[in-house]
This record gives sequence, C-alpha cells and structure tokens, in this order.
Amino acid sequence: MSDTDTEATVPAPVPKTTVSITVDGKPHEANPGQLVIDACEDAGVFVPRFCHHPRMAPVGMCRQCLVEVQGPRGPMMVVSCMTVVSADQAVLTDTPTVKKAQEGVLEFLLANHPLDCPVCDKGGECPLQDQAFSHGPGESRYVEAKRNYEKPIPISDLVFLDRERCILCDRCTRFAKEVAGDPLIHFTSRGNDTQVQTFPGDPFSSYFSGNTVQICPVGALTAKPYRFKARPWDLDQTRSTCTTCAVGCQTVVQSSRDELLRYQGHDDDDVNWGWLCDKGRFGFESPNSDQRLTDPLVVAHGSLSTTTWNAALDAATKLIKKAIADGGPTKLAVIGGARLANEDATAWARLAKRVIGTPHVDAQLGDGLPVELLGLPRASITEACSASTLVLLGPDLKEELPVLYLRIRDAAEKRTIRLIEISPTQTGLSKYAYTSIRSAPGEQAGAVRQLLIDEAEQLAKGQVVVVAGRSNLAESPTFTMDALATLQAGVTGLKVLPALRRGNIVGAIQAGLTPGDGGRDTAGILRDAAAGHIGCLVLLGADPLSDFPDYELARQGLAGAGSIIAIDTFLTSSSAMATVVLPAAGYGERAGSTTNIEGRVLPLTQKVNPKGVSRPDWMIARDLSDRLGGDLGIESLDDAHDLYMALVAALAPSSMPLSNSSSLPPTRGGYDLRLVVGHNLYDEGVALRTSPSLSELSRGAHARLHPIDAGRLGAINGTRVRITARSGRTLTIPVFADDAVPQGLVAVAANQRDQISDLIDIHAVTNDVKVDLA
Ligand code: SF4
Ligand code: SF4
Repeated sequence: MSDTDTEATVPAPVPKTTVSITVDGKPHEANPGQLVIDACEDAGVFVPRFCHHPRMAPVGMCRQCLVEVQGPRGPMMVVSCMTVVSADQAVLTDTPTVKKAQEGVLEFLLANHPLDCPVCDKGGECPLQDQAFSHGPGESRYVEAKRNYEKPIPISDLVFLDRERCILCDRCTRFAKEVAGDPLIHFTSRGNDTQVQTFPGDPFSSYFSGNTVQICPVGALTAKPYRFKARPWDLDQTRSTCTTCAVGCQTVVQSSRDELLRYQGHDDDDVNWGWLCDKGRFGFESPNSDQRLTDPLVVAHGSLSTTTWNAALDAATKLIKKAIADGGPTKLAVIGGARLANEDATAWARLAKRVIGTPHVDAQLGDGLPVELLGLPRASITEACSASTLVLLGPDLKEELPVLYLRIRDAAEKRTIRLIEISPTQTGLSKYAYTSIRSAPGEQAGAVRQLLIDEAEQLAKGQVVVVAGRSNLAESPTFTMDALATLQAGVTGLKVLPALRRGNIVGAIQAGLTPGDGGRDTAGILRDAAAGHIGCLVLLGADPLSDFPDYELARQGLAGAGSIIAIDTFLTSSSAMATVVLPAAGYGERAGSTTNIEGRVLPLTQKVNPKGVSRPDWMIARDLSDRLGGDLGIESLDDAHDLYMALVAALAPSSMPLSNSSSLPPTRGGYDLRLVVGHNLYDEGVALRTSPSLSELSRGAHARLHPIDAGRLGAINGTRVRITARSGRTLTIPVFADDAVPQGLVAVAANQRDQISDLIDIHAVTNDVKVDLA
C-alpha cells in the first residue's frame, strides 16, 4: 500500500460549525454568534421578551428575558437577548430564581400599565397580555395610582400613540432609526416620565410607520385605518402577497364578515423581512371602497348603465367582431394588465394574440423599459444586497419600490455592499451611497463610461448587480438602456434587478402582454387610435389618462378609438369613456399568483367574495373567447396557472449583449430647464384616491428647483410658477427650492392633482421647459 492510498482512507476532520450548549439540561447545537434567546427558541423553549426583535439589533431594554447560565462560580442571571452562546454553555430557563426574576419584571411593567385591555386594539393578540398570563406573578402588589397621560395622541397621519400603555421597549424607536432611516420618534424625559415622542412640529411622517404598530408589543401604537374595526378573534386570515408595487412583500390578509380589515407583514427572508410600506399596508381600504364597480355597464341613451353579464359580454363581443370585420384583427389593441394576476394575464394574452390575433398588446404604460431588460441575467433582492457593488440606475426606490429601498438601505448602511447611484436628482438612497453621481436626462451612458474608469478597481472586486428602472418619465427609455448596455459591456457577469414599479408588471410581460411581431407599444397604440386606426381599444385595468406620461396623446387616443371596452375595478377617467365596462374582482377577491421584480412567483389568495357580481379577469377572457368562437385552452384557474408556469419555465436568460444606440440628448435651445418626472409614493392613482386614510397624503403637484434656479426666478417656497413646454402647453403649480435637484433641472412628481403629463411629449427624447412666475 502506498502513502497516497493510506492518506485516501483517513477522512479529513470536518470542522465543527455549531456550538454545543444545553437548554434546561437538554443538548442543543446552536449557531456560532447566536443569541441565547434565539438558541433557546430553536431548542423549543420560549423565553419571554418584549424588546427583542429578530430583525433589529439587541438592546436589552425590557429585561424580561432573564435566564440563568452556569458559570465557573455557579449560575449567573443574564439577559438572554444580549448574551451570545458559547461552547458548553448550560442555559437554565425554568429555575425558581428565573421564574421569580421574570415575574418581578412583569410586575414592574404592569405597575403603570392601564390594563384597558377590553378597549385596546391589541387585546387578544398582545404579548404583554399573553406573557402576563404565562410568565407573570398572577397578582400585583401595587395599589398606587397609575401614571396618566392624554389618551391617545396622533404622532402622524396614520398612527396614534397611547403613552399609558407604552412599556418603553424601544422597538418602534429602533425601527424608525435602524430600519426605516426615519429617526422621527424618540424617548424623551427621564425616569418615570420617559415617553416616546416626536419632535414638536415634526410628525412621524415615515412611509413605513405602520410597521411600528405591528411590532409594538402592547397597544401603545395603533393604526388609524384599523382602530376599533375588529377584535383579533373575529379575524380570519390567510397568507398572500402585496401587489401595490412589484416588490412582492409577503402579507397576512385578515378579514371579518367578508370585509378586508388589515394587512400585516409576514417575515420572508428573501423578500420583505416582515416589513411593509404604508401604501401597501393600508391599501386594504381601496378594495372595500363603495366606489368599486359592482356590475357590468354598457352605454345606453348616451350614458353608462348597469346591465347583466350576458348583455355586457354580448355587447363587448359585438364591438370586437365589428373592429375585426372593419379591418382585421389588428384593429383591436389591448393596453394594461399589470393589475392582473399571472393567470389573468395569461388568459388575456392568449385571447388577444391567439384567439383574436392582434399583436398590439402592451402592459407597460410608457413608463417602463423595453422587455429585453427581463431577459438579462437576473439578480434576486438578496443577491443585490450581498453584491460587492450595487449600481442603482433607476428611480428613487424609496418612492417607487419602498421595501426594496429598506433592504438596500440596510445593506448599504451595514456596508455589506458598495452602492453606486446614478440618478438625475438625489434619492432616498443618496446618503447611503458610496458614490452618488448626478446625471442630467440623457447623460446616463456618459456617467456610466466615466464610472467604468473611475471605479474600475471596485467594479472588478466581485459580483456587480445593477438595479435598473426608469428614473425619468420625461425622457426616452433609450438613455437608460444605453447606459445599461455600456455597463454590461464593461462589467463581467453583470446581473440585473429590474426596478419596474407596477404591481404584476413582470408577470404580465412574462405572460405575453407585450407587443407581438409588428405590434405597437402603448404610445404606438394611442397614436394609431388617435389617427382612427383602432376600431376597438381594450383597457385592461389601465387608466391612460392618469397613468400614461403624455396626457394629450392619451386623450387623443381614447377619443379616436372606435370603441373602448374597459375591464376594471373602478370607473376611472379612462374607463368612464368606454362603451362596455366589465367589473373585475379586486385584490383579496380572487386567487392566483403574482411575479415580483426578481421573477419570484408568489401566491395571491382569495379572502373575501368579489364585490357585487365582479369576476376574475381570466374568467372574463374565457367567456369572451367562447363568444368569439375561439378556444382559449383555459377552463380553470389551474389551467391558466399551468400555462403561465410553462411560459416561465421556457424563459432563459439572454446571452446576447444589449444593443447600444449611442443616443445623445438634444441641446436645450431657449427652453433652459430639463424636466425630470418620477413617482411619489403617495400619488393620485385610483388605489390611493379610494383609500380614505391615504388619500390626503399626496402633496399635490409641485415643482422643485435648485435654490440658485429658484432664486434667479425670484421664487420663494410655495410661489406659483408657470411651466411652459415646447408644445406651448402650460401648467401652473407651486415651486420649492431643493438642493436635491441639480441646477438646470426641474423635478415634478407624476400623477398628482394637476396633470404634469399634460406637459410631456412622449416622442421627444427629453422634455425641456421654461419656468416663469405665474
Ligand atoms: Fe415599545 Fe410600543 Fe412603547 Fe414603542 S410605543 S417603546 S414599541 S411599547
Ligand atoms: Fe406592497 Fe410594494 Fe409596499 Fe411591499 S413595498 S408593501 S409590495 S407597496
């Protein structure tokens, strides 16, 4: 036997990757660096706690999690949320000493707690209530009067604070500072007077405030949209996915008596870590709105009137057949689909492209990027947050994909990634960026070329991920695609996380709601419709008058279409122009799946019955297909799901490099300010307008100028200015000086009360304007 043979038979020692401890005498293998409280939980032993939260740094604030650890000098009392496991540690959680200590802490916590459980929103799901029963003393020795505060005080538009109930656990304040980056609530005063407070005149106006209500371990923080609506035992719940934007946050949807009453965040490691933004969390008011469409409508005697499904479907079929008879299938066009579930989108894509035979289908409303984006090697959110370099070439994520912002902010702040941002104005992530580059509209590719030189060393260090989306609706998407092509050519193994905003836009595109061969995109469809070439325009949950970046083109397109069929949950300004309106089942009213920006297929669960006689979109497509004499190949939701999953399975990342058109921005002529239009989280979209708690939060249309540009105009904050586009169209709105906007640009938010899209010409590669005092 040779030496080599001998070596081959002796297995190499496997390094130990766990830490051996005992919990109440039972052996357990813990993870190195793990906190004792978490190791105990993994071992099946619950240690009571209030301040400890797995997604936030430990503070040892409430002292409820006291346990004993055997040391060389006998057992020692430790705070288990601040103590890390160590080899051969013996943890004791149920000794008389531990029990006495835990009861003592609870007695202290209850000394001032008002015990108004019967009228407290948290009653029935309150950790303080539960742990007072499971780990408390049973009786209190306190007979003194309790502390009194005014009950409750609003700390923001959405959250109330009842200071009497607060146990000073520091969860809400830590969340605001550590997770949201909005340190707007703090502990004030000292000793017995310590309380959570906002700064005077500075409310807790965070996009993420609702998370504090969910994680508060008592009823000190309550949400205005949910207060006194239900008791936990009345609620029935199911897991689902938020579709308000395309992040795909995991939710628990709760209802009572067939009404959606609350969405809670579900902790999903890959996506949202338990957090939701307030727009997603409190959006449950919209599906409940009494403005919902409940019945089919058809135009009779000049106005829309309620009718039966049969009559409406017959009318819709007649319109489709007429358009086809007048000029063939291409006389029909479909706009929209991002509101739909994957299964609905699959059914509608098949109806449009196979049964009817039109290629004019587009789910993006001129505010996205070419679909090649989705063919590039895709990064997950976790990959983006653990890349060596993350390049942000897109919108302000805090405004458009808020929980993605939270994830990236966390990674950038903890310096697990180097964030390089290329954007026209400062964004929510600018202060966390390693490099933040301002590039005027049209100059992104130049900025990327410079970046490839300046940061060559950093970009060569490891995986580079680019978060790519549309940072400006008032410029051609070509500029972003050129910048992406330049980055792709300069960085080996680049991965992309698409920053497309609309709920299920990725699912809609993957299902086929995109222009087919020779097909037009939304701008092309509207142009054709305006020229009288579209006999029947189908609006699939789309409201071009509010959402398409060029209002004038949308108006002309809708006016010029031979007929309009709208499938929607609300009567919007666009669907109100339809000849037939078919009511679709809304969020929580139909099952299916949705696909997030990562390409992750996530569940949508039905929790309540559809409003009125509204129906899921896939059923509407199937019924129209039957009436048209076609075969959709879909008889059930499962059929549609299987077809969608087959489409997804057939997708393969493209190895083709993106083409680079090397477009250059035009000179500005006499129009000296270049327009930048992005979305604010709170806009005038239908979901916001029909959620009473959120509808007042949009700031309305306003312009932001660099202080020097504002000074040159002689404008002070709030001065009304007239913005004039090259087309001659004008808009008069207030202006604010903001050094987040570089000189030479004017930034305005889309879809606010005054239509900024009135100024945008979608065919211009950039939109330059003049601004004067009104
Ligand atoms: Fe903790 Fe709630 Fe008090 Fe905030 S309000 S410190 S979360 S008990
Ligand atoms: Fe919903 Fe998007 Fe907000 Fe998540 S980030 S809660 S998916 S709106």
